[in-house]
Amino acid sequence: MLIPEPVQRLIDAFARLPGIGPKTASRLTFHLLRGTQDLSYELPQALAELKANTGECEQCFNITMADEPLCQICVHPQREDSVLCAVEEPLDVIALERTAGFKGRYHVLHGALSPIEGIGPDDLKIAELIERVKRGGIVEVIVATNPSMEGDATAMYLRQQLQPLGVRVTRLARGLPVGGDLEYADQSTLLRALSGRQEMD
Ligand SMILES: [Zn+2]
Repeated sequence: MLIPEPVQRLIDAFARLPGIGPKTASRLTFHLLRGTQDLSYELPQALAELKANTGECEQCFNITMADEPLCQICVHPQREDSVLCAVEEPLDVIALERTAGFKGRYHVLHGALSPIEGIGPDDLKIAELIERVKRGGIVEVIVATNPSMEGDATAMYLRQQLQPLGVRVTRLARGLPVGGDLEYADQSTLLRALSGRQEMD
């Protein structure tokens, strides 16, 4: 046994994170092993509080502090109520907020449709989105799912469900790197995609 079990265990845990291969997982683990005590105490505490001290916004499903039922954007008095932007992940909200080009409200779907991975409409916050639109006051839903097969499938499905309710359904303009994530798009590309959004038909 070349690597002691507790060391291997952390390597394996790191390697399960997105974008971290076995090499990086080993580097991170050995860095913690060698480094000062501070980080190896701070890290587990931050991880424990990550889930315990955060929650989901009851309206848009963005991240909130655990004791706040609604997120900062939902409680903001000066955002437009008539335009909703549907995104896959909370990180996409942050990416769009950085562009400062959107003044409406959000709806976080928590993923995208993927028949291959067995993710259907019931696994996402789609019923909740339909309910929000049915309650009225919404004129346009901008579908800002990723430019991927799953993102496209989700957009098509949302259009089918939402258009009969009498709202405009638009999609971010092409120009975002295909297969890439919204969160990695640079601000100007994202802003252009947002302002050039098109009616879905
Ligand atoms: Zn919210």
